[in-house]
Amino acid sequence: MRVFAAGLATETNSFCPIPTVAADFRDNLFEGFVGKQGPVDTWQSMATARGIEFHRAPNLWAMPAGPVIQADYERLRDALVARVREEGPFEIILLNLHGAMLATGCDDCEGDLLRHMRTAAPAAVIAVELDLHANVTESMVAQADLIIAYKEWPHDDQAERATELFELALRTAEGTLNPEMALAVVGALLFIPTKEEPGRKIVEHLRAAERIPGVLSTSLCHGFGWSDTPGLGTKVITIAAGDATLAKDTAGQIADVVFTKRDRFRIGVDAVPPAAALDMVLQSDAKTILCEFGDIVTGGAPGDATHLLQEMVERRVSGACYAPLWDQVAAGLCAAAGPGERLALRLGGKTSRLSGDPMDVEADIVEVKHDYSHRLSPRFGFRAGTVAHIRIAEVDVLVSSERFPLLYPGIFADFGIDLNAKRIIAIKALQMARIHFAPVTDKFVMVSTPAAAGDRFDLLPYRRFGRDVWPFEQQLEATP
Ligand SMILES: [Zn+2]
Repeated sequence: MRVFAAGLATETNSFCPIPTVAADFRDNLFEGFVGKQGPVDTWQSMATARGIEFHRAPNLWAMPAGPVIQADYERLRDALVARVREEGPFEIILLNLHGAMLATGCDDCEGDLLRHMRTAAPAAVIAVELDLHANVTESMVAQADLIIAYKEWPHDDQAERATELFELALRTAEGTLNPEMALAVVGALLFIPTKEEPGRKIVEHLRAAERIPGVLSTSLCHGFGWSDTPGLGTKVITIAAGDATLAKDTAGQIADVVFTKRDRFRIGVDAVPPAAALDMVLQSDAKTILCEFGDIVTGGAPGDATHLLQEMVERRVSGACYAPLWDQVAAGLCAAAGPGERLALRLGGKTSRLSGDPMDVEADIVEVKHDYSHRLSPRFGFRAGTVAHIRIAEVDVLVSSERFPLLYPGIFADFGIDLNAKRIIAIKALQMARIHFAPVTDKFVMVSTPAAAGDRFDLLPYRRFGRDVWPFEQQLEATP
């Protein structure tokens, strides 16, 4: 038995003007992201334990941003497929993909990649692990033999799903399993945090369906609303043993159940604009975390939006801190001037109108670190480049030269910011940070801003997506 494994992925935000290029794809960028084994490491361990010949090609992921430049995507795709041709034949091809990658000339990179892979290896079992935020297409399902997506958001079950996929791929390659896959469209775009109710019940429903005799796997891909593609939306993938009807019926039944609960899973359901968020916070003494989720880089947003920071500075809130703000120029100027200096800075708001206006401020430079790594664990961190701790009015702000996701409160202590002394902790963050910041306070306020990964879908200039799923269709009906 010969097994090939590789990764080629990113989560494309069509409204981010930062192009994704070949050099942005790095080997194992997100492998083990949540502190456990990632998919490719898991497959390698399983193959090694069973004495199976394992070929590991680069496991390339890029930090989410705008669409991949078409020529770069084709070069990466062709290099991957060429490797399969040169080193093959393989009985099993395992791919660690996302499911929401777009190129400037391709609406469905995973479907396209799998079509090329199928041509190169017509007899191989092609097995794919997808992110839960995939916009799954018929083409992906048609070209692959097996697709399993993460069930959890945050995605701490990558290794479990990778294990299931490997087992099913092995049985298929050995001829003891004939997998039938089905895809069902929910007809909505949903956001389902799975560590809390009511999202937990949805995961339990998926697991219950897997106990139906003959059903091997169920995946609910929530979709990614900022990938402007006709395939945008929440979908179900099922795998059944040799029974296409069972796979189809199970997928349809899950899709129906999820659709009936759609009202509870609308993005931004409890989010408020910056002014209202600050009103709420200033009315109480409770330490509060403001999550400015519309500008998270893991959602492909640039990370330089100023909507919330502007409001905090204008209202001269005290006992507040804010991180991170991506601004290469400002970080460089702070580094050049050095700690103890005061600079007039034009801050943030540079990449597009979705990032808001730049802020003209007087900033006191407190500290500057070079080659800073935002570390989640001793072996895993994100490069943040030069990071400057500046103070604007009474707000402590961290400005970075590189885009990175803020996930962990330790970054504030690294720059001498004591969260015990802060009442307002504003972060560009969503689900992962909510878990890591939970020990700081249990009071979170989701802040809605018109940014590139925000919940103001009515402001996003879709061209390819037909707004034909809930709740977009309702917005269309409401518009005269
Ligand atoms: Zn995801």
